[in-house]
Amino acid sequence: MADNETQIQDSAIPERGVTKVDTGKEPNAPARVMSIHAHPDDQEFTIGGTVAKWARAGSEIITVCITSGDSGSNEKTDPNMKKEELVKIREEEQRNAAKALGVKEVVFLRYPDGMLQPTITLRRDLTRLIRKYKPDAVLCGDPTVRFYGNSYMNHPDHRVAADVALDAVFPSAGTRLIFPELLSEGLEPHQVARIFIHGSDKPDTFVDIGATIEVKIAALREHHSQINDWDPSEMLKEWAREEGKARGLEHAEAFRQMVLKEERN
Ligand SMILES: [Zn+2]
Repeated sequence: MADNETQIQDSAIPERGVTKVDTGKEPNAPARVMSIHAHPDDQEFTIGGTVAKWARAGSEIITVCITSGDSGSNEKTDPNMKKEELVKIREEEQRNAAKALGVKEVVFLRYPDGMLQPTITLRRDLTRLIRKYKPDAVLCGDPTVRFYGNSYMNHPDHRVAADVALDAVFPSAGTRLIFPELLSEGLEPHQVARIFIHGSDKPDTFVDIGATIEVKIAALREHHSQINDWDPSEMLKEWAREEGKARGLEHAEAFRQMVLKEERN
C-alpha cells in the first residue's frame, strides 16, 4: 500500500482540476467496485447497465443500500403495509435485482428511509465498508444536483447518500487517523482510485450499455413493490438514449468521473 501521507499531499498540490485520464474513452471495468445508494432500486434506475456490463467483464461488485426503503409504500396500493414487513420485501427485491446484474454482495445499513442525514456515524459506516472491501471505483449520485428539470426535486436521501459516500472516499477511507477506531477493527486506510458520479449535470464519461440495457430493465423489474405492473422499458431506454446522445451512442449511462489515484497496472 502506498504511503498515506504522500497520497494526501498529492491530492492537495495545485494540479487539482487536471484530468489525468482521457474521459472521452470508455473506462475499463475496474477490478473492484462499490455502488453506494440510499434506497433499494436507486442503483437499478440509474447505473444498472454499467454495473451489469462491468460484472460481465469480471468486476467484483458490492452494492451498499443505506436504507432498506422502509417508507417506500404507496398507501393507495397497500394502506396496511408495516415498515418491518416492507424492509423484508425490499431487501429481497434488492438482492434479486443485484443478482440479475451480477453483483457479488449486497450490504444493508438499515438507516431509516426518508430521514437520512449527513452524520459522522453514517460516514464512519461507509468508511468501514470501503476499507473492508477496498474498491478501486465507487459509484454514487451527485449531491450537488437539487433539481432535475422543472418537475423532479432530487430526493434528500439521494443527496445525503451521495454526499456522505464522497466524504467517506475522501478523506476518511484513506486517512489513517480519521476514525482511529476502525484501525482497531483491523481496517487499514484504503485509497479509492476513481469515483463515477451519475445524475451529474457535468458528465464527461459515457458507458455504452447497448449490450446490457435489457438486463438493467429486468433488474429494475425485480422491485415489484415499487413498480407493480408498470413496464419501465420505454423510460429507461429514453434516458439511455438521452445520456448517449453526446457520444453518438444508442444507449449509455453518463458519469462525472473523479480520478483520485493513477490506475494500478
Ligand atoms: Zn431513491
